[in-house]
Amino acid sequence: MHQFAHSSHSAASSVEVPVAARRSEEVEGSSCLLCGGALEVSEAGLSDTRFGTPGSYEIHRCVRCGLEQTFPTPSASELKELYETYYNFGGETGTVYTRWRERFLFSFLYRVWAWIDGDVAFHQRRGAGWLLDIGCNEGRGLRLYARNGFEVEGLELNETAAAVARKAGFEVHTCPLEEFRPVKGYDVAVLANVLEHSLDPLKMLQDVHRILEPRGQVWISCPNSQSWLRKRFGASWLNWHVPFHIVHFSPATLCQLLSDAGFAKIELRQITPALWAAQSLLIRLFARKGKKTRQMRNPFLTLLFMAIARLGLFPVLCLGNWRGQGDCLVAIATKA
Ligand SMILES: [Zn+2]
Repeated sequence: MHQFAHSSHSAASSVEVPVAARRSEEVEGSSCLLCGGALEVSEAGLSDTRFGTPGSYEIHRCVRCGLEQTFPTPSASELKELYETYYNFGGETGTVYTRWRERFLFSFLYRVWAWIDGDVAFHQRRGAGWLLDIGCNEGRGLRLYARNGFEVEGLELNETAAAVARKAGFEVHTCPLEEFRPVKGYDVAVLANVLEHSLDPLKMLQDVHRILEPRGQVWISCPNSQSWLRKRFGASWLNWHVPFHIVHFSPATLCQLLSDAGFAKIELRQITPALWAAQSLLIRLFARKGKKTRQMRNPFLTLLFMAIARLGLFPVLCLGNWRGQGDCLVAIATKA
């Protein structure tokens, strides 16, 4: 899913002024991806808390529409190298971990869990028609969408991951979205935690619009920049995920972007997955600048922290969603 961040747009910008003096000041020489408005610093001193890649980042907020962007923005070629070095699918199959994950995903237990915790990847939505999973990785989602009634295809730039999905019998395209010319339009396009990785999210949604049938739907999930967990965890918030997350959406900016790309009938919901809350907590406790946070891949710790988040914070997570401050935005929009 991560490979679809690449595009020709680049907007690197950095001004050497002390951070404290720059807060609430407009940043010169760059502008908002969505509306062209001026930018101000909204967060500073962020680093990669997951893989420990070098570099310090800021989040800049548009003074006009509120869209937030990561700065300095990596160029398309820098991102390609970062993904290939740190992020790529490793081809892990047939291990005890992957077998149990497979059993869980197709079990009744997962349905119950998704009902309680929220379904950030649309794994429980039933329907019919042609569905394209953009950034399908090794095809786990494809298997679930097919089970739920859809005719499925994937788009994935990572050849290793695409090969695994093809081996399981799926049609997977490996060209960039902007060059993708399907023979027939899709009824559904899924962007599950993909859009925030894009250097040009408007272009991405316009391309999705182009490959959909009339009245086709796009299903999007992405982090919510208005999340109460952002305020609680600050620089340790999981969803900064710099430098891989380029754009940080609020409900308003996501709706504006969808509307600019030609979508209507936008249904927006909020979810706070226990896994996301657990991972912010793991980052707060264990992340060290320049080091990979191995604890985020520790199944025991992750399950323990998820249980704490789900059971201990149940009312708080619900209240956050209800107040429009959930951790994840889930949008369904129709091609106008
Ligand atoms: Zn703006």
